[in-house]
Amino acid sequence: MDLGLKGKNALVCGASKGLGRGCAEALAEEGVNLVILARRAVELEQTAEQIRERFAVKVTTVVCDITTEEGRTAALSACPQPDILINNAGGPPAGDFRDFTDEDWYRALGANMLTPIALMRATIDGMITRGFGRIVNITSAAVKAPIGVLGLSNGARAGLTGFVAGLARQVAPYGVTINNLLPGLFATDRLATVTRAQAEAANLSTEEVTARQLQGIPCGRFGQIEEFGAACAFLCSVHAGYVTGQNFLMDGGSYPGVL
Ligand code: NAD
Repeated sequence: MDLGLKGKNALVCGASKGLGRGCAEALAEEGVNLVILARRAVELEQTAEQIRERFAVKVTTVVCDITTEEGRTAALSACPQPDILINNAGGPPAGDFRDFTDEDWYRALGANMLTPIALMRATIDGMITRGFGRIVNITSAAVKAPIGVLGLSNGARAGLTGFVAGLARQVAPYGVTINNLLPGLFATDRLATVTRAQAEAANLSTEEVTARQLQGIPCGRFGQIEEFGAACAFLCSVHAGYVTGQNFLMDGGSYPGVL
């Protein structure tokens, strides 16, 4: 299927590896020119070079922390008028809510709620004027099924989700859609880090923790970034113009509810 995206421009946040990279690659495969950003220059440049070689699209890199004002200014200077915006940044740390300080909360809200809102605010009017825009926010399965130790993530991402539900309807008449992708467990460096931390806390081996994680996934495996990217690219496609304000769970069947 031709997704109708050839020659469009995308700003993809947190794209040197993991889910953001999966999205960047899937868009590049469709002929989308990219501005990708991440905090570490070497990894980001390697990713950019590999995408250029594989897909022959233009890839510009911005080394920045997107959760800062300076980072967002740098990203938006490199890509002031994206047709496609993929919002993504690292998730907040786990812990007991009694230990979270106001500072921890402000950081989580800044990274996982206010940063995507700021990037939408800066880019959405251009999308409206051009009559086409696609925004995909990478959130978490924890939005649908909150995870106790991830209180900061549950709270901040729920705030973003509520905001998006309202905004999506406001911009829908102008050809602009906003959707959220909710990953369950995907095989990325972040999952490996979380698994190591859980193993240490429970005095188990990482293999034991991995086996337990897999028991909860009807598909019997972790998700792959290519699968995530393909879903993202479809939501950005011309075929998904009638899909907006939605939360798509990609969790291998883990969530047991009907709706
Ligand atoms: P990852 O660590 O594999 O990759 C994260 C990418 O984002 C990297 O390129 C990193 O450099 C970049 N990044 C992180 N913080 C940044 C910042 N402040 N500014 C700029 N770039 C930044 O992580 P991932 O597994 O791809 O996770 C992406 C998001 O999805 C996170 O918010 C994570 O909490 C969420 N998530 C992941 C999973 C999973 O199973 N992998 C599950 C649920 C939610």
